Order: sequence, then C-alpha cells, then structure tokens
Amino acid sequence: MDLSLSPAEREFRDEVRTWLEENHPGPEPEGLAEVMAFRRDWQRQMHEAGWAGISWPQEYGGRGATLIEQAIFAGEMARAEAPSPANVLGLAMGGPVVIAHGTEEQKQRYLEPILSAGEIWCQGFSEPESGSDLASLKTKAVKDGDEWVVTGQKVWTTFAQYAKWCMLVARTDPDAPKHQGLTYFLMDMEQPGVEAKPLVQITGEGEFNEVFIEEARVPDANVIGGVGNGWSVAITTLMNERAGLAFAAIAQIANSLKRLGELAGETRANGGSAAEDPVYRQRIAQLHIEAEAMRLNGYRGLTKTMQSGVPGPEGSLGKWQWSDINQGIAELALDVEGGYAALERGAEHAIAGGAWQYSFLRSRANSIEGGTTDILKNIIAERVLGLPKLR
Ligand SMILES: Cc1cc2nc3c(=O)[nH]c(=O)nc-3n(C[C@H](O)[C@H](O)[C@H](O)COP(=O)(O)OP(=O)(O)OC[C@H]3O[C@@H](n4cnc5c(N)ncnc54)[C@H](O)[C@@H]3O)c2cc1C
Repeated sequence: MDLSLSPAEREFRDEVRTWLEENHPGPEPEGLAEVMAFRRDWQRQMHEAGWAGISWPQEYGGRGATLIEQAIFAGEMARAEAPSPANVLGLAMGGPVVIAHGTEEQKQRYLEPILSAGEIWCQGFSEPESGSDLASLKTKAVKDGDEWVVTGQKVWTTFAQYAKWCMLVARTDPDAPKHQGLTYFLMDMEQPGVEAKPLVQITGEGEFNEVFIEEARVPDANVIGGVGNGWSVAITTLMNERAGLAFAAIAQIANSLKRLGELAGETRANGGSAAEDPVYRQRIAQLHIEAEAMRLNGYRGLTKTMQSGVPGPEGSLGKWQWSDINQGIAELALDVEGGYAALERGAEHAIAGGAWQYSFLRSRANSIEGGTTDILKNIIAERVLGLPKLR
C-alpha cells in the first residue's frame, strides 16, 4: 500500500495550507451563541473561497474534489487548529444524505444553504427511550392531505436551538415491523409546535437539546428517500457521520499529543517533569502507538469508501479508537497536571487556562455521541469481521 501523496495531492495540500495560514480567523470568542455566530461567518468565508463541501458535486456548490482531497482538507483544518464550521451536522450528514437519497428539487433547494451556513441543520434521531435501539423510536407522523403531522419528543439534539432544518426520523406505519415503519423527513424547526430546550452538559455548555414536537407540519415534498424507507436513509446518515470524522480526528489527536508532550516536559514544583518519569513515558508512548493504528485504519476506511462509493461500517472503528484515545489523552494530561488539575477553568493558576479540564469533561461524551462504543464494537464484529450475530 502506498500512503504517500501524489504530486497533485501535495499541490492541493499546499494550496489548502496557504489559504488557512492567510485566512485563519483567530481564536474563538467565549459563549456558545458567540461561538456559533463566529463559526457561521467563518463557514461563509470558507464557502466563498470554495472550501466548503470539498467532495460535493460542483453543480450544487461543492468543489467536486476527490475523497482523498477531502481527507487532506480535514487534516489541514485540524493541523491549523482552524475553527469548526457552524453547520457541522449539515456538512457531515445532511448534505451527503440529500446527495445520496434526495430528489433533484431537494438538492437544488437544500445543498447551497448548508454550504454557506445560511441554514443550520440538526439531527433528530434519539428519543428519551430510543438511543442505541433507534428503530424503536416513537415520534409519529400521520398523513393529512399532502402534509404529515408530527408529534413526539427528541433528545440530545445538538445545535437544535440554532437549526432551521431537522433530519427527523419518525414512525409512519405503527403496524409494520419496527425497521420498516420509519420515514426520514426534513422538518422546519421554525414553526409553531416545535420547541428546543437546551440541556446543560458536564462542561456547563448547553450544546444539545430536548426537542418537543406537537402537531408540527411537514410537507410531502420534505420526505427523503421515500415513505417507509427511513431506516436505510438513517443508516446512510450515521455512516457519513462516523466516516466524516476520521481525518479531522487523526489530525486533532496529533495536535493533542503534541500539547500533551509539551505539558509533560514542563518542570513541576518538585523539580522533575513527567517526561522523565518511565511510567508517564510509557503511557504517552502507548497513546502515540494507538494514534498511529487509528491513522492507518483511517486509510483502510477511506479505501473501502473509494471502492464502494459509500462510507461503510469501517468508520465505526475510527470513531471507537478516536474516543478511546481522546479520553486517554485528557485523563493522562490531568494526571500530569497533578494538583493543578483540581483548579477551575479560568482560575489564576490553571494550566493553559483550564483547557485540559474542559477537554477531560467534554471527552466523556465521545464514547456516547454518534453511537456508543459498545454499539460500534457490535457493528465491527458483525459487519466488518463477519462474526455471527448474538441476537
Ligand atoms: C454530546 C452528544 C451529542 C449528541 N447529539 C445527538 C444529536 O445531535 N442527535 C441525536 O439524535 N442524538 C444525539 N446524541 C445521542 C446519542 O446518539 C445517544 O446518546 C447514543 O446513541 C446512546 O443512546 P442512549 O443515550 O439512549 O443510551 P442507551 O441506548 O440507553 O445505552 C445505555 C448503555 O447501554 C449500552 N447498550 C445499549 N444497547 C446495547 C447493545 N445492544 N449491546 C451492548 N451495549 C448496549 C450502551 O452502550 C450504553 O452504555 C448525542 C449524544 C451526546 C452525548
């Protein structure tokens, strides 16, 4: 296997790198609403320069680049520590789903505003009683003329408070077997009957929401992939979510390991540094080894996607490895900080302004969001390794 870049890919990487050096918008402001506004501006700027929707078709406003170039771009964004675009769910999932399952009219209507961050998207899958077992969801949609009337509750809906559109999976046939009675809708969040209430996470931020839906209206034209076909459209969404993460995650882990190395090299009050301690050295080395395994598996997943044209279950491996490594780095960083780790974010002596404490708290969610590690292990066992199903 040749993992080096071709001359054209190197040229592409250099072009991305130069653009990011010249256009990096600087540090993000404090506060979620301010961060979202900042990221919307940043995404608009990216889009205007042709750096949003790297592998999307040009006719819908994308760059029409290859999947390798998309991976290079994601890696360069993370390497430059550029802010995330505002419309992460629209870019990673909503757009690819409309491209794969949408009608021509839907592509014309929805794709461009995803790229420009003109319309933010959220993902309405999980419910209070349905997370891992998504197909058991109860939110229902009942046909009324050429509209659907939706009633139910979603939960953990990231950025719902900023979203115009919700990728909503609802039950349209209560009598069909549970995977077959589902339909995938685009629901307008800005209507009476839809209310998003932020839930505060362990970090203190209200990134995700409860969404209460009471007789909300969705026109027939907003069904994606056909009535009763919601399960397969939902699977496309989740495969894109996990696969899309890989190369940004690889570069983000490389950045974190670099910072961890710097932290470990700092001399503490007792005179020594963690970098000189064999136990810490071993733990840091182990994380580097795992990061390298994750990087190579990222290429394995990308190769499969290039062969089949759609992201497959291999993305689950990267998501699992990323959450393990990211949590491992944050835990080790707090061990290295020792007593300083107990200081609050922003406290006078908090190391790096409490960035590691934030990272430690936020990374708790990594092994839950986008599919729990247990579920990913089941997917890998059954769909990548071909092991027999227990159920
Ligand atoms: C930060 C964050 C953001 C999120 N954003 C969104 C979003 O935007 N949209 C959205 O729809 N959802 C979102 N989620 C929800 C997320 O997808 C679910 O939390 C996740 O799928 C798990 O579902 P659950 O919380 O209901 O846990 P459960 O499914 O109840 O699982 C509880 C525990 O049981 C284990 N378990 C369950 N079933 C099995 C099994 N078959 N085999 C082995 N173990 C099993 C799980 O691994 C877990 O440890 C988000 C979650 C987080 C943490």
